[in-house]
Parts: sequence; structure tokens; C-alpha cells
Amino acid sequence: MTLQENYQQIVDDQRKYVEQGNTVDYTFRKQQLEKMKKILKDNEKEIHDVLKKDLNKPDHEVILTEIGIIQNELEVAIKNLRYWMQPEKVASPLTHKGSKSYIIKEPLGVVLVMAPWNYPLQLSLVPIIGAIAAGNAVVLKPSEHAPHTSDFLARVVEENFDSSYFTVVQGAVEETTELLKQRFDHIFYTGGSAVGKIVMRAASEHLTPVTLELGGKSPAIVDEDANIQMAAKRIVWGKYTNAGQTCVAPDYLLVQESVKFKLLKAMKKQIKSLFSKNLLQGENYARIINYEHFKRLTAFLNEDHIVHGGEYNEEELIIEPTILDKIDWEDPIMQEEIFGPILPVLHFENIEDALSLIKSREKPLALYYFGENPRMQSQVMEYVSFGGGSINDTFFHLANPYLPFGGVGQSGMGSYHGKAGFDTFSHQKSILKQTTKFDIPFRYSGGTVTSNILKKFLS
Ligand code: NAD
Repeated sequence: MTLQENYQQIVDDQRKYVEQGNTVDYTFRKQQLEKMKKILKDNEKEIHDVLKKDLNKPDHEVILTEIGIIQNELEVAIKNLRYWMQPEKVASPLTHKGSKSYIIKEPLGVVLVMAPWNYPLQLSLVPIIGAIAAGNAVVLKPSEHAPHTSDFLARVVEENFDSSYFTVVQGAVEETTELLKQRFDHIFYTGGSAVGKIVMRAASEHLTPVTLELGGKSPAIVDEDANIQMAAKRIVWGKYTNAGQTCVAPDYLLVQESVKFKLLKAMKKQIKSLFSKNLLQGENYARIINYEHFKRLTAFLNEDHIVHGGEYNEEELIIEPTILDKIDWEDPIMQEEIFGPILPVLHFENIEDALSLIKSREKPLALYYFGENPRMQSQVMEYVSFGGGSINDTFFHLANPYLPFGGVGQSGMGSYHGKAGFDTFSHQKSILKQTTKFDIPFRYSGGTVTSNILKKFLS
């Protein structure tokens, strides 16, 4: 069987499975979510092991940013599933008197979820929670750059789920290219924008809708009235967790010039207190995914700019948490998403100028504002367009299952997490149920009397 025939078979089997109505039932969907919960619990040790092998993820990061987020999403989905699935009643205008209007949440069918390597478990399973809750069959394509996690996912999915319902396809560019030729009912892609375009192009062949969870340069802004110690701690944590390989990590820092010295001093202190002295040997600190990314990142380490860190261990692919100062917008590090543990610092005099500069660039996936003035907080959140973000925090908005998560413009399209995930993978089928007890006449043509009544009703 060729790759193409094999993938075609998978999609055909899954479509049949959905069309036969196997996934419609509330109890079936709930059981699948419970099963996922059990898989996480039963395989906790192996999950830690595979994430250590792929990225040297520290145990507390695995608990907080991988297993913990998936568990929270599962809890919310299991708790709310029945409610999410219920048809939604909506109002009807006076012209529709006698009728009832409602929306049925219908499964889309067979969905493809393509995941990246940086949170290889969480970014595979959280979209799938939404897809399963919404009653779809799922093909997961995990990232080839996190092979131990991909193998783990392939094994547990095969052992626990009927492949006509949920299956894992492994592989790199050749396999993914073939897979993308199949007709899916939705494609959910997380990763860089170059491949995002490939995905969207392939999806257009079948008019398949897509969700694209992309990246971008997410700023952290620190204003003069910010709680500096708190800002330093939360920026350091958000930036250097997973060695900066986080889509919502603060990419660069914009600080009001009068508090810059104090902030940098506090951040250096926080790096020392939050991370191990032996991090270059891999103690409690993630490594860079591969040599190519390691080389790309170390090229940014210019002695003239390093104010903290800058050391690395080439053998272990580890780069110290690093701060670069005296950076301006034209520097190479400001031209692309960094996706590593290097934080360039820029300063501003007026917040308005800083915001205008952010607005003149592509819309970021996240934005973080540190400052105490509520008016300024609202202004920043409302004046600049970005995927989502926080006031006086970084990263943590992503872990709230009640907040839809997704980008805007070049940082992505569509969203998920909690109910947003269920909605992404559902078709909203609008139904009008009309009465047969009477029939209001004015929609039918019948001279000026009805036209006049109609105009009155519609105005
Ligand atoms: P990646 O290289 O693992 O690629 C993602 C997926 O695309 C994988 O499944 C991979 O097999 C597939 N792929 C790669 N090349 C392909 C090709 N030529 N044709 C078809 N498929 C292909 O991950 P990445 O792109 O390096 O991920 C990093 C990027 O993802 C960053 O830009 C980051 O900001 C973004 N990201 C976004 C989010 C989010 O939630 N918005 C989360 C994590 C990462």
C-alpha cells in the first residue's frame, strides 16, 4: 500500500465511523475523555521520561505546562460536555411568530491535528479534547522533532482507541505532504507560519476550514509605575520556562527608561533564584530542541550586548537564560521570533511611542503589560491588537481553560481551549421550527396592503 492509499484508507474508515453515528452520543464522548484522563494518570512516569528525552524538560514544568494543562482542559470538558452539546435556543423576530429557532452543535467529521515539538504532549492533546468533545474522529500528526513523545502518543492511542476513531500518523515533510492531500473536515495546525501557509494551501484544495495557531514577536512592556520585583519574577519565569521555546513567551522587553536599571537588576536576581546553578549541565532546565535551532540562537549572542548569561553547552544543546541590552528595532534579533532563552531589552520614554511601534509591526500572539494604573492598563489592552495576553503577568492566560486561546493576523486564526475548542470543532447548524397551526400571510405577495404591513414589521 502506498502512503497515499494508506492515508486515504484511514480517512475513509474514520469518515464511515462518524457517518454511522458512533460519535454522536454524549456517553461515548464522555467515555473517550475519561479514557484520556486515565491514560495520563497511568503513564505519568513515561510522560516525564519522554519529555526529558526530547527536551530535557524539568519535572515541575512537565506537571505545570504539559500534564496540568491537559488535565484542567479535560476536567472542564467533562464537566460541561452535556451543556455544550445542548441545542442553543435563540430568539425569533416578530415576522417569525409561531416558530422556534435553535442551533444544533454538529460534529464536523474527520479532523487532522498537527502539533509542534515545543510542548509536544499538551499541544497534541488539548486540541483533541475539543475535537472529541465535539464528536469528531481524529488523526493526530505529532512533530517528528520530538520523536519520543510522538512514539509514546502513537503507542497509547493505538492501545486505547479504535483507529477508525482516533489514530496517530507519524512522519516528517514527505508523510505530512501526503497526509495533507486527503480531504479532512477541519485541519488544526500549531507551528510556524511558513508551514501554516502550506497547510492552508493544501486545505483550500478541498475547501477545508483551518485553525492556525502560529507565533510571532510578543512584547512584555514594563511601565514606570510597575511593581518591579513582581514584574521581574513573572517575566523571567515566562521567558525562560522551556528555555524560551514557548509560543507565548515574552519575545522582547520594552521598559520605561527610568525603571530599566532597577528591572534588569531584579531580573538577574530572579534568574539566579528560579534556576539551578548547574543549568548548563541540564539540571532543571530544558534544552534547545536540535542543533539547527541551537546554532540559530547562539548567533544572537554578541558580547557587546550581553548583560546577563550568554554561556552555552554545545554538547547538551543548552543556552543560559540571557539578557541582551542596547538593542534597537533594526538588529537581527528583532527581525524574527526568537523562540529561545534570549531576551532583548529596548526602552521607551513615552508609552504612546512604544505602543505605536508595536502597532506598526505584525500583530503578536501575546502582549504583556506591567503597570499599576487601571486607565493605562485598559488603554494598552484595547489600543493594541494581539492574540491574547495579561496585565501584570506572562504566559498564564494560556492555562485558563475559560479563556479562548489563539492568534490574530499573522499570529494565527481561530481559537481553542475549553468551550472555544468545542466550538472550533463543531458546525453550528441553524434550525427554524415552524408552527402549522397558523400561517401569517404577509410574506406572500399580495398587493399594497401586505407590502405596507411588511414594511412596518421590518422597520
Ligand atoms: P514543527 O517543525 O514541529 O512543525 C509543526 C508541524 O508541521 C509538525 O507536525 C511538522 O511535521 C509539520 N511540518 C513541518 N514542515 C512541514 C512541511 N514542509 N509540510 C508539511 N508539514 C510540515 O514546529 P515549528 O514550526 O518549528 O514550531 C515552532 C513555531 O510554532 C513557532 O513559531 C511558535 O511560535 C509556533 N507555536 C505556536 C503555538 C500556538 O499555540 N500559537 C504553540 C507552539 C508553537
